[in-house]
Amino acid sequence: GWAEIRETLRARVGKDNYITWIEPLKLSALSGGVANFSVPTTFFGDWVKRNFADQILHQLHRSGAEVDRVEFALERNPNPAPKPTEPARKRATDEKEVPGAPLDTRFTFDSFVVGKPNELAHAAARRVAEGGPVTFNPLFLYGGVGLGKTHLMHAIAHELQQRQPELRVLYLSAEQFMYRFVQALRERQVMDFKELFRSVDVLMVDDVQFIAGKDSTQEEFFHTFNALVDQNKQIVISADRAPGEIKGLEERIKSRLQCGLVVDLHPTDYELRLGILQQKAEFYHTQYRDLVIAPGVLEFLAHRISTNVRVLEGALTRLFAFASLVGREITLDLTQDCLADILRASDRKITIEEIQRKVAEHFNIRLSDMIGPKRVRTIARPRQIAMYLSKQLTSRSLPDIGRRFGGRDHTTIMHGVRKIEELMTADSQLSDDLQMLKRLLQG
Ligand code: ADP
Ligand code: MG
Repeated sequence: GWAEIRETLRARVGKDNYITWIEPLKLSALSGGVANFSVPTTFFGDWVKRNFADQILHQLHRSGAEVDRVEFALERNPNPAPKPTEPARKRATDEKEVPGAPLDTRFTFDSFVVGKPNELAHAAARRVAEGGPVTFNPLFLYGGVGLGKTHLMHAIAHELQQRQPELRVLYLSAEQFMYRFVQALRERQVMDFKELFRSVDVLMVDDVQFIAGKDSTQEEFFHTFNALVDQNKQIVISADRAPGEIKGLEERIKSRLQCGLVVDLHPTDYELRLGILQQKAEFYHTQYRDLVIAPGVLEFLAHRISTNVRVLEGALTRLFAFASLVGREITLDLTQDCLADILRASDRKITIEEIQRKVAEHFNIRLSDMIGPKRVRTIARPRQIAMYLSKQLTSRSLPDIGRRFGGRDHTTIMHGVRKIEELMTADSQLSDDLQMLKRLLQG
């Protein structure tokens, strides 16, 4: 029954998420392939739907229920009598727990891979997470989508809570801030709202660009912000761009946001992407024990997939799920098949001609030898390297590549690619050459 399913969900989503979002769910009906849950508010329903619907559905399936959809509807109150006890109960929980958005238990400092593009942001986040005297206020983190802003903010919250459990740390998105504020206005509880937000020790507001142009929310945010700064309480803010660049944000707020430390997360580079992929792959290995990844696959992905880490993770997740489904080794071929759409979308449009030219230059041979018939090793090896890179860095098929190497057969190309794959693990000179060439080609 639902009670057992709920228990398995507790392990999956973590205790905090469970208490906040899963426990209050009531399974009201299960028929016609739809599981209906009642939820206390529309916002609650939206949140659960967005964040947990898949997992709930998955667990329902596993328990043998015949459902293909989960729905969340507002709880209909059969008799309005219990209402008066509601606020009392709520306040009791408020007292010990600040009701922020749930923290993702996976977003910790341990799981955050540090590289050049994010080292400053990481260091600043670490400093705040130490919970010492407030040195810069606010900490303003900004950067493009999927670069780790939310991850760092959750990591700060986890760390602070761990070091100082009595600290009231409130993390929420600017959207939720607005939602709460509007709700408080509607329910005439603005004083409670103000009190709540002014009583926290650490306030973290994610994606603050969201309140740009929303005047009364901005106003309230400004006052909250000032009140907390005056009390020397730490504030951490994130946005998709620098404070000065956020259109529709009041000047006084912009200048306030710039008062502390403003750090940006740069787009990921190859090394960081590879580091993240390696970490995730290791994690997947614990889940899918017998899956093997061929050498070069993670490097391939790090080269070819965009700077957005979320896209990178999505690609890897799909790849592992697919490989385990078909029970095959994760080779370059499998990767290209499985991720064709993602690869096409982030194609950097490197041409085979470019690769041949760069490789020829690098090994100091003539470009014409790339496509010519010579078999001496000083020429054949660079040619194989160019074949390998053509396979890795372009979306051309083997026959296609063959045509551009003087009309060679696709099996010759495959042999060349395999040869390099074989050699690169043991030959560090070769793998250095490959790294260098990839970097050159990728600009
Ligand atoms: P943002 O809030 O900047 O849009 P997120 O923090 O949501 O990005 O990150 C998107 C995904 O990428 C998350 O799953 C996050 O764990 C992961 N991620 C981003 N940067 C890193 C990193 N440096 N190390 C490990 N995972 C990362
Ligand atoms: Mg985010």
